[in-house]
Amino acid sequence: MERDLYILKSGEIWLKGGNRPYFERLLKRHLYRVLKEFRPELVMQKGRFFLYTEPGHAQQIEQVLSRTFGLVGYSRAVKTKKTMASLIENALDICRKECGNRSISTFKIAPRRPDKSFPMNSYEIACELGSAVQKEFPDLQVELYHPDLVISVEIRDHAYLYGSTQPAPGGLPVGCAGKGLLLLSGGIDSPAAGYLMAKRGLHIDALYFHAYPFTSDESLEKVKILGSKLSRYFGGLRLRVASFTEAQLHIRDHAPENEHTLHMRFAMVQTADMIARKVHAGCLITGESLSQVASQTLESLAFTNSASDLPIFRPLIGMDKEAIITLARMIDTYETSILPYDDCCTIFSPKHPMVKPDREIMIARYRALGLKPLLERCAEEAEVIRV
Ligand code: ATP
Ligand code: MG
Repeated sequence: MERDLYILKSGEIWLKGGNRPYFERLLKRHLYRVLKEFRPELVMQKGRFFLYTEPGHAQQIEQVLSRTFGLVGYSRAVKTKKTMASLIENALDICRKECGNRSISTFKIAPRRPDKSFPMNSYEIACELGSAVQKEFPDLQVELYHPDLVISVEIRDHAYLYGSTQPAPGGLPVGCAGKGLLLLSGGIDSPAAGYLMAKRGLHIDALYFHAYPFTSDESLEKVKILGSKLSRYFGGLRLRVASFTEAQLHIRDHAPENEHTLHMRFAMVQTADMIARKVHAGCLITGESLSQVASQTLESLAFTNSASDLPIFRPLIGMDKEAIITLARMIDTYETSILPYDDCCTIFSPKHPMVKPDREIMIARYRALGLKPLLERCAEEAEVIRV
């Protein structure tokens, strides 16, 4: 049976020098895993990826490709004989399909000829195919700079033809940068932060602090849904759920109210650090953004930074809320994030939180709370869910 074919365009991978095979291998591994049920075969040929799949699943496959980091675009393609008759037949076919899908008034033929033994050069191929297209579609004009439709033709071991290219997110293949632990709450910010860091090649594990019964089962469900939405980009996600009730009650009962949030944030990072070491994650990721709330002032961030020696990535640090919301909408987490919920950050949050903590003084005050053994248990007992 004829297999479906896609030509994949890798963005930044192409810029990698001697390390390129490493990035390509990871992209291949990722695609084989997420497309397993469609029996994928990926062939790499001089800067091009040719993906063959079982026919009849275009919609699902295209959804996966449009969420694959390391790709900037993909096109449905045909592989055919290297004869002019076959090139014309397929170019007309592409034109027919594209004109059926959208309004097109200009086009261009874009030939490439890695196989120099082909008897016509690129210019001659373009002229021949261009006039065949114009004969069949007299309303279409040739436009070299901003055409509505580009019909690409590549002459290699066979001839490959394809029309429009669909966008993919870019970035680098999942896992090429190592592993990070994402502190995932039910809010708008942390899913967006996880997306951005996965796009730079991190394999992501997630951690949610649940404070049952102060935070409801619905809150946990919501985080699981957010996790499953992210996993469509990550190719699977391991979500750890740590019970934070005891830690929160301890802080509530032993620290002044205006310090609650800061101690809780410090305790979260300390616990996350323990779990990250257990799962061999090399960094923590949060959705913090400078000055968004009291615990995200420069002084507060300097304080919570001290809870871990690992790098803490905060990819949203310089982004406005509006820009974060636009990103959350784009990755389809926004509508879930705005469902009403309570988070353990908000339930015990003080009316007048401290905004400019003195790092050294607060570290001493935090130590005096004696939370560490409790947090070690919390990290040890965290439940793992595959979403
Ligand atoms: P989000 O930032 O996800 O929209 P939020 O703004 O309500 O939620 P903040 O209080 O701003 O949360 O917390 C800052 C960051 O701390 C979050 O982006 C997230 O990385 C982490 N965080 C907060 N609450 C939790 C939680 N319950 N479990 C795991 N991480 C959390
Ligand atoms: Mg936030």
